[in-house]
Amino acid sequence: MLEKLETIEREALAALGGVEGADDLLRWKQRWLGKSSELTQAMTELPELDPAERHQAGRRVNEIKTGLEQAHAGRAEALRTQAVARSLEREQIDVTLPGRPQPVGRLHPSTQVLRQMLAAWRQMGFEVYRSREVETDELNFGLLNMPEHHPARDMWDTFYTTKPAVIMRTHTSPGQIHVMRERAPAPIRVVLPGMCYRYEQISARTEIQFNQLEGLAIGRHITFADLKGTLIAFAERMFGAGVRTRFRASHFPFTEPSAEFDVECFVCGGQGCSVCKKTGWLEILGSGMVHPVVLRNGGYDPELYSGFAFGMGPERIKMLQHRIDDIRYFWANDLRFLEQF
Ligand SMILES: [Zn+2]
Repeated sequence: MLEKLETIEREALAALGGVEGADDLLRWKQRWLGKSSELTQAMTELPELDPAERHQAGRRVNEIKTGLEQAHAGRAEALRTQAVARSLEREQIDVTLPGRPQPVGRLHPSTQVLRQMLAAWRQMGFEVYRSREVETDELNFGLLNMPEHHPARDMWDTFYTTKPAVIMRTHTSPGQIHVMRERAPAPIRVVLPGMCYRYEQISARTEIQFNQLEGLAIGRHITFADLKGTLIAFAERMFGAGVRTRFRASHFPFTEPSAEFDVECFVCGGQGCSVCKKTGWLEILGSGMVHPVVLRNGGYDPELYSGFAFGMGPERIKMLQHRIDDIRYFWANDLRFLEQF
């Protein structure tokens, strides 16, 4: 029996020396310390021995078992250390290599100018109101005082969808109706930014898609003086304090009276240049007092409430600021253009 135990110990330790890797180690443990191992088998045979031999053999079994367990733990530790050393060797990091440059993204020029404008309006207490890009004919035209067959509709060449009376919005103005119907009779101070679509011949000056930024203020006792003061304050925030401005009478179906708003040409300082076509002025937006019909369609009694509205083209203003001579650059995805901003 004792001889057999010595053999087990010798063979087990010899086998452990050849173990490489965790799977091997687990197999070794099952083979030499598991339930059906020779050592466990020897333990079940102990009671059959005569007392003197049983005592001696019992002690050896325990010694060998403890010895093998310790040897197993030692081998496991050695294998772990080896694995770490190997991975350090293999995955060495060369800290002297130059880093890989990460290309830094940037905001699209339209987004830049839109954010600049929204920041100016937010300072003046206007909230951003987002509205949908697909609209009904009624919201895009009818409720804005342009019933069917109204000649003013010709100013907006329209993309129609396959669904009758559903169109791509030609301006952000239908958002005015949405916000009025949602809030009436509470006062309103909102700006409505977003993409608009027109079925146009694409050229250096016209695109089929472009951003608009519209504004709307509704309340009691709002006058044309408020409109003028607000737009002048915006121009100063956008183009610098003290910038000269002027209003010119105009006509829009949804405002009465209506006015175009110009700022002094910031390219030539009002002297006259090619950007301002020698006039010294740049037209930046259209505006007016909200038409009583539009107020009523939005749920406000025009006898009690009044308001003003305005709309401008962020891309157009960006073009003026940077003397960009072709609006098609904005959506052409040409990096040589986009990376300049
Ligand atoms: Zn000029």
